[in-house]
Amino acid sequence: MYENPDGVMIGLEVHVQLNKLKTKVFCGCTTDYHNDPPNSHVCPVCLGLPGALPVINKKAVEAAIKVGLALNCKVEEHTQFYRKNYYYPDLPKGFQITQYDFPISSGGYIVIEGEDGEHRVGITRAHMEEDPGRLVHEGTIDKSKYTLIDYNRSGMALLEVVSDPDMRSPKEARRYLDKLRNILEYLDVFDGNLEGALRVDANISIMGGQRAEIKNISSHKGAERALLYEIVRQKNVLRRGGVVVLETRHFDEAREITLSMRSKEEAHDYRYFPEPDLVPLKISGWAPAIKETLPELPDARRMRFVEQYGIKDDQAKSLTGELVWANYFEDFLKAYKDEYKEKLDPKLAVAWIEVLKGELNYRDLTVDAFKKEDMLSILELLVSKKITEDGAVDIIRTLLDKGGSPDEIVAEKGLLKVEGDIVSTAVEEAIKENPQAVADYKAGKEKALNSLVGAVMKKTKGRADARAAREVLLGKLG
Ligand code: ZN
Ligand code: MN
Repeated sequence: MYENPDGVMIGLEVHVQLNKLKTKVFCGCTTDYHNDPPNSHVCPVCLGLPGALPVINKKAVEAAIKVGLALNCKVEEHTQFYRKNYYYPDLPKGFQITQYDFPISSGGYIVIEGEDGEHRVGITRAHMEEDPGRLVHEGTIDKSKYTLIDYNRSGMALLEVVSDPDMRSPKEARRYLDKLRNILEYLDVFDGNLEGALRVDANISIMGGQRAEIKNISSHKGAERALLYEIVRQKNVLRRGGVVVLETRHFDEAREITLSMRSKEEAHDYRYFPEPDLVPLKISGWAPAIKETLPELPDARRMRFVEQYGIKDDQAKSLTGELVWANYFEDFLKAYKDEYKEKLDPKLAVAWIEVLKGELNYRDLTVDAFKKEDMLSILELLVSKKITEDGAVDIIRTLLDKGGSPDEIVAEKGLLKVEGDIVSTAVEEAIKENPQAVADYKAGKEKALNSLVGAVMKKTKGRADARAAREVLLGKLG
């Protein structure tokens, strides 16, 4: 049981940009603006000009319902949009179209790897809203003489996923964000690599104080850092006999500290009222059909991998934790040529995918840097016992660093495994040249055998199979 000594309670509000839709949420402007000049994809609606009328993007509502279902939420009977009134230059019309009562869905949960094993984090609600524009500062925000505004982002469909305050440490908050992103990737509703795809506000309190809301967190690591800082800050305030007040704080990413922005505004400050230009939507009837389109989600896939392929649970967890690797693994098994299918052990494939992941990570590369066919060739060379495991690693590294093909590298580096006579000869020589080790072994020192195996490997330049060499040695030593 995790004791949570400081009584930490963390809840997260995550703004997910549904950026795989073709058009924005209330107008026909494209969502494909990321490589275009600022303010090149705007219209009266997303610029917030007076009198412009919004029209809901049905696909955006469907995507929002899909996410709600995947987060185990109940989809509401009907949903309604509201105006949230506040002034900020990124939203010139003076209000944001968002939701208040009757959000798309509510009452779900996500299972994360918590401080004490599996831990359920409740999802309070998931509601839709429009994204404001993007503010750009020359240099840093506190030194910039002016602010530039790009409204290309304005009007993008957002889904705000609000969690219950169920996370008990910054680590759990990070795990939650990882899991949420993982699920979203499977749903194919957002591209996490695009600017602003996932933005986090964090609410955190410790025992004896009120909560602080931290804004401007742009990464999962940033969330963990901001929360770690905030726990120390709040504890220090209480230790000095002070009061932790309800407030909104800004995370300064460069300095890794949080700074007070303002006392926390409350719902009534925003004068929410129903958006008169959008009718309520009766969505309960949509849910069953959308549920049919839900793909197999990470947890289910992880369980299936363990059952179907007999791999370890932590291997299945690591594979399914990133959609590209889960797909890579299964595509890889399917692509195996018939003649090798018999010998193909999924466990072997996982082990080598893990090696590949490590080598890619070391070089800061993604899976695109390595052809699947090359991995197939390497495993074929391995299962047909033509190369050793060391040889396989050598091929992977050479391919990543210099390119070429597995066959070329095998020929160039002389990686073909040596067997039979060559190994016997090497063993005989090793015995002859290391009388002391032989004597030690015969005197009962088991370890001496390892140095003899080492001598054989050295003579064959690592191309003998260490286990086979050991067998031959044992035979000859009697
Ligand atoms: Zn527009
Ligand atoms: Mn919001």
